[in-house]
Amino acid sequence: MKKEYLLTPGPTPLPPQVSLAMAKPIIHHRTPQFQEILKEASAGLKWAFQTANDVFIISASGTGAMEAAVVNLLSCGDAALVVQGGKFGERWTELCKAYGIKAEVVDVEWGKAVSPEEIAKRLKANPQIKAVFATLCETSTGVDNDIQAIAAVVKQTPAVLAVDAISGLGAVDLKTDAWGVDVVVAGSQKGLMLPPGLGFISLSAKAWKLVEESKTGRYYLDLRKAKKALDKNDTPFTSGITLIIALNEALKLMQADGLENIFKRHRVMADATRAAVKALGMELFAPTAASDGVTAAKVPAGLDGEKLVKTMRDTYGVTIAGGQEELKGKVIRIAHMGYIAESDIILGITCLEKVLAQMGYKFNLGAGVKAAEEVFLKG
Ligand SMILES: *Cc1c(COP(=O)(O)O)cnc(C)c1O
Repeated sequence: MKKEYLLTPGPTPLPPQVSLAMAKPIIHHRTPQFQEILKEASAGLKWAFQTANDVFIISASGTGAMEAAVVNLLSCGDAALVVQGGKFGERWTELCKAYGIKAEVVDVEWGKAVSPEEIAKRLKANPQIKAVFATLCETSTGVDNDIQAIAAVVKQTPAVLAVDAISGLGAVDLKTDAWGVDVVVAGSQKGLMLPPGLGFISLSAKAWKLVEESKTGRYYLDLRKAKKALDKNDTPFTSGITLIIALNEALKLMQADGLENIFKRHRVMADATRAAVKALGMELFAPTAASDGVTAAKVPAGLDGEKLVKTMRDTYGVTIAGGQEELKGKVIRIAHMGYIAESDIILGITCLEKVLAQMGYKFNLGAGVKAAEEVFLKG
């Protein structure tokens, strides 16, 4: 018998309340019943996004919401600045390229956070830049960027700041309005504890000016249509009814907890995971900017990282993530975002230790679990 556990940075495990909500019979979306549900979702999303602006729900994975940001803000030939310190920063660049937007790249060494001063310098040198694209949690490297400091820089320029918070939202603090973040993009399957399938996007008044000016052809992702519909408690196309009903369950759980507690829990989970891998003699991939949503650790020299991940998953049912692109086989990533408790971390570390030992790696068996427990005891 094998039990399955998910410790990946998307999808993340589902609370039972969320799963049960999705088992109910489907209802129609153009009804007063669904309008009430959408109203509740809109209010809850504003709370989670820490914004007074509308948060639009798109039936797409997170990347659909990223694409919505690009096509609605910019036109072919416009200039943008992209923070690229991992696979998801690269995605902003690729999206810009697909639409003929001139993407100037701030190349950040993988495993490091971007320097806000560098962004200030680039914006000063190129006043044509209309938008800065950044990532809250760069899931591929386990880095959290300092969005507050980046926003403070961008705010003083005519450019807007668009942040990919797909894996960060609901895990690490992002004060959209208070910090002055113009556009926030999120997805359902990470910190928000839902299955994949919904993308979310919020826009400031400064960003809406660009939406009105953009000449890019758009249809499904046209946020002007989304705004017109949302003003009437509706969506322009068939709503992701089941997922939106589940979203309200997830938001209820989050609101019962409170944002401060949620962020603190993620910090403690991250501290415990980091302490555990270090106690096993593994190095953090991002020691100076380690994310509270996901921990990336270097695979010990001489060990096959892909085999480590595969054995944990296929033999013991514990799914963690490996490295992507240039990090393939070189890092493991243990997610601690969303519906994750202390017991999940202990279980994940226990399995990691077992497979490391089987692969011949020398360490003190139990050292990782002990280090995690010590963090949890302190709380
Ligand atoms: C998961 C993730 C994405 C991609 O989202 P999809 O839902 O797969 O489209 C983009 N950015 C970040 C930071 C992510 O973690």
